[in-house]
Amino acid sequence: MPVINRIADFHADMTEWRHDLHRHPELALQEHRTSQVVQDKLRSFGVDEIHTGLATTGVVGVIRGREPGPAIGFRADMDALPILEETGAAYASETPGVMHACGHDGHTTMLLGAARYLAETRNFAGTIYVIFQPAEERHGGAGIMVREGLFERFPMQQVFGMHNWPSAPEGVFLWRDGPVMAAVATIEITVTGTGAHGAMPHAGVDPILVSAAIIQAFQSIIARNVDPTEGGVVTIGAINGGHIHNVIPETVSMMGTARWFAPSVGDILESKVKSLATSIADGFGAKAEVAFERVYPATVNDPEAMAMARRAAEAVQGEARVQHMARPTMGGEDFSFMLNEKQGAYMMLGGGRGAHDANVHHPKYDFNDALLPVGASWFCTLAEQLLPRTA
Ligand SMILES: [Zn+2]
Ligand SMILES: [Zn+2]
Repeated sequence: MPVINRIADFHADMTEWRHDLHRHPELALQEHRTSQVVQDKLRSFGVDEIHTGLATTGVVGVIRGREPGPAIGFRADMDALPILEETGAAYASETPGVMHACGHDGHTTMLLGAARYLAETRNFAGTIYVIFQPAEERHGGAGIMVREGLFERFPMQQVFGMHNWPSAPEGVFLWRDGPVMAAVATIEITVTGTGAHGAMPHAGVDPILVSAAIIQAFQSIIARNVDPTEGGVVTIGAINGGHIHNVIPETVSMMGTARWFAPSVGDILESKVKSLATSIADGFGAKAEVAFERVYPATVNDPEAMAMARRAAEAVQGEARVQHMARPTMGGEDFSFMLNEKQGAYMMLGGGRGAHDANVHHPKYDFNDALLPVGASWFCTLAEQLLPRTA
């Protein structure tokens, strides 16, 4: 069973929906228009129930089969990024500085396409929940929905999600058991020294020098504290201090990110970032305040659910286009909050059009519309394979 014919029939409609969402991107927890579009479409498809208000703009649609039975959930994310679009597309963002640079417009559209087909056909016994979550890029909308009772209000056996993947060839599904995306923490450090004339450094404590020593020392955490067979990242991505040639400033602030898979590695990164920063600052006669905030857990696929997801992908695209993902990525994903609570799996769907295709989070990135019927068919095939079939 390749791409479902009925879904291929409305490829043009889905493309139109995707371009409309692309024109009107909204940042995390501000997806009011997007949420309304989703609700209106679900209503027009005849979805049985539409629930709103979870995590501010989240939407859950309920599609009941011809008979009662088990329940599964499908999840899409709806938010955009604070990036100035450079695609030159006819349907480019009409909101300067905000853009769908991660393809969540495509994810939302694929799940809408699936909802349309499933509400129309209902060839199953049981219930399907289509979950449209806000704030994947920041604030962890999936975690908010879970904390607000997603799985209590909508009890389901499994939950599935996917992400388009421009660095893999178009239409190739990637699967992986266990960790697939990393846990994420943000790091914020303020180093306070004593300001002085730049020509009289002995009269102060230079927080710029202290910060340089801290950043150097951080490189030893992965190299010398983490087991070499495990993965981890500590990156300082921003450093701000001082404003003129001849003044030693009072403070320097730094921002960074840490990534890992194994919880024990996360503990090492947190304790070393804190202890190195504070003890180095102390040694120099300065003071460091460190905040290490764990924002997303690692995204870990359940092998049994992954096998279900693979089987559906193989039915849609053929075995040759369902490939093992050799390594996980250090990117983060808040679907992890759902997978921490519920059996489920997360797949990547290749969207690469050529060697020079921009990757997600790039101002020239644009979701590949060829994937729309493929992703929608994957959701629907999963539903029809997992839930008992009715005549
Ligand atoms: Zn993203
Ligand atoms: Zn994304």
